[in-house]
Amino acid sequence: LPEYAFIGRSNVGKSSLINMLTSRKSLAKTSGRPGKTQLINHFIINQNWFLVDLPGYGYARVSKSTKKVFQKFITQYFEQREQLVTAFVLVDIRHKPQPIDQEFMQYLGESGIPFSIIFTKADKLRPKAIENHVEEYKKILLETWEEMPNYFITSSSKDIGKDEVLNYIDSLNNSIVIE
Ligand code: GDP
Repeated sequence: LPEYAFIGRSNVGKSSLINMLTSRKSLAKTSGRPGKTQLINHFIINQNWFLVDLPGYGYARVSKSTKKVFQKFITQYFEQREQLVTAFVLVDIRHKPQPIDQEFMQYLGESGIPFSIIFTKADKLRPKAIENHVEEYKKILLETWEEMPNYFITSSSKDIGKDEVLNYIDSLNNSIVIE
């Protein structure tokens, strides 16, 4: 089955987003505490694709060796997954582009892994501020990328962006040619 990986810095709102997409509030536990999602979780959706919940990267409060283990874990996943269609990189809409997110996107690009950006927690900003933050992101990404990656603006607490993400995944699933 085709699979779609969800990844981002810890506390970005990944568990909440996955809960929104899967519409099962208790499926992935959310917490205010960073570093809760430590292993890969798979969710099978509509019996035709996998949602893959990857561990968060860039914990502020773990040791360097722990960071290395996580990095290895994540890169191993990307090296091995043949069914992966696209990765969704989550970033908090309130934050300025962070080097670690840029590095990670760079890594995906160099590895030939398609990705989209999911901006989270859009309910925390006014529409104008959202626009500004997205523009700022674009400006920085366009320094390394030829075009702005596909992106979505979401809020799990206000149920924003759910259909857009799910429809996008459906459209990719429908365009997969089985050889
Ligand atoms: P994870 O560590 O990336 O899985 O993040 P969580 O889903 O556990 O969320 C981290 C914190 O952000 C929690 O306190 C959530 O309640 C909060 N949060 C997550 N998504 C949203 C959102 O869309 N809007 C708002 N206002 N808060 C959110």
